[in-house]
Amino acid sequence: ENKKNDLSNEMRRKISEHPCYSGEAQHKFGRLHLAVAPKCNIQCNYCDRKFDCVNESRPGVASEVLTPKEALFRTDQILKEHPFIHVIGIAGPGDPLANEETFETFRLIRDKYPDLTLCVSTNGLLLADRFDDLQKSNVETLTVTMNAMDPDIQMQIVDHVVYQKKHYHGREAAELLIEKQLSGIQKAVDSGLAVKINTVLIPGINDEHTPKMAKRLSEMGVYIMNIMPLINQARFEDRRPPTEEERSAIQNKCLPYVKQMKHCRQCRSDAYGLIGNDLSQISKVRGDEFRT
Ligand code: SF4
Ligand code: SF4
Repeated sequence: ENKKNDLSNEMRRKISEHPCYSGEAQHKFGRLHLAVAPKCNIQCNYCDRKFDCVNESRPGVASEVLTPKEALFRTDQILKEHPFIHVIGIAGPGDPLANEETFETFRLIRDKYPDLTLCVSTNGLLLADRFDDLQKSNVETLTVTMNAMDPDIQMQIVDHVVYQKKHYHGREAAELLIEKQLSGIQKAVDSGLAVKINTVLIPGINDEHTPKMAKRLSEMGVYIMNIMPLINQARFEDRRPPTEEERSAIQNKCLPYVKQMKHCRQCRSDAYGLIGNDLSQISKVRGDEFRT
């Protein structure tokens, strides 16, 4: 039986202005990513750590890490120029929940801009443990990257996990990550948050498994799923990314269970503006930080 994602009216209004949750909102409303979180607590086989977290980003560019105070300053500057930005997100360059700076930044932004939507993207390892802190920071939209719910599949994707200073490898790492992700997602859904799941589609590893995940995620009450193509690098350098046709076939198999986001552009962890019109990249090239 499908669990209704019973979001409050206020939450529905907020996600209707969130460019990653609503296909219509992407053309009208922007988001600002603050790159305050450099450390990561897992190692995905498709990540070489030189660049931003691949779970929410495209490689080839490394975002400059800001302190929480610098992040607030950047927010002040960018909001002045771009009032259509209603969402402030933290998506890396590592895992936001593995960095205290994430929570400090959210507190600073929340106190100054209580009407903005705060958004976080995580691999989910620490989601259950840090959930209360996220709620205290007023985070309302949440993305968890979940690539498999079956440990035999997950162990092909994640190399190791570091949890409470202990290193886990192989099946044990996969089991721990899945257990933590599922309990964190359930907590978030039960608290009324709009939860989005990012899944990196890796042909030959998790493609057939993905619709099964969609079914379970829908039963849990997840709001939307974003199936992203593998970017082949690091240990997965020799693997083939899915074709557009393959990805869209999997999306169609998942659609009966859970709403599909199809307009993700795999943004940088310091992106801002409208999706697909990444002002941070333009401004860096021109050396003109606050180009309108
Ligand atoms: Fe890299 Fe992100 Fe995976 Fe961490 S969670 S290893 S930063 S892709
Ligand atoms: Fe939205 Fe995708 Fe960009 Fe994340 S990476 S901000 S989900 S468009």
